[in-house]
Amino acid sequence: MAFTVAIDGPAASGKGTVSRQVAAHFGFAHLDTGLLYRAVGRQMLAGADPIEAARTLSPRDLERDDLRDSDAAQAASRVAVIPEVRAALLTFQRAFARRAGGAVLDGRDIGTVICPDAEAKLFITASDDIRAQRRFAELSESGAITSFDAVLADLRQRDTRDQARATAPLKPADDAILIDTSQMSIDEAVAQAVKIITQRGGKRADGGAPDRQ
Ligand code: C5P
Repeated sequence: MAFTVAIDGPAASGKGTVSRQVAAHFGFAHLDTGLLYRAVGRQMLAGADPIEAARTLSPRDLERDDLRDSDAAQAASRVAVIPEVRAALLTFQRAFARRAGGAVLDGRDIGTVICPDAEAKLFITASDDIRAQRRFAELSESGAITSFDAVLADLRQRDTRDQARATAPLKPADDAILIDTSQMSIDEAVAQAVKIITQRGGKRADGGAPDRQ
């Protein structure tokens, strides 16, 4: 049976971690849709036409190990304003969302454009400062050389571009439930997400009793 969980929100809001853990809890498949745009962005940086890159994207392109850095993030948000790039990635995302056994997709336009009929929609957010602190800690841990101010500026620039674009801008769907993780631990955010999804009819794929929430 198909069951789609749409999770949107700005960069570093915690939506990626929550999405992964929610998917694991329910036994659903998970798609981080930002990776699609990052992979297209990377190909643009290497000189490819972004529309062609989006049309010919393959699963192997998503396995590159240089998709997580801030160059890839910035390039992703630049190719993400191109309507033809978004259109080329739509069918794959929709098919993923309706696969048997349930799916969690996280991104910017999942609840509004990709899966307007998703059974559960969440919009996960947090203050700019908290998001930048989290991303800075993550990058520092992975050995990247950067500063808090640079990370904050990068997030704000991407948010502005994502919110201002004409096609599929970042915004909560009218029927999305908002979770502000500024003052929450990851466990608390996941518990809240699981509760909301369960109320919307989400059931664990293995039929087992909930493990912790
Ligand atoms: O989520 P992540 O930070 O990896 O996304 C990178 C960029 O890809 C975002 O800043 C946004 O511009 C774009 N994106 C998008 N729509 C999505 C997912 C990501 O426009 N569904």
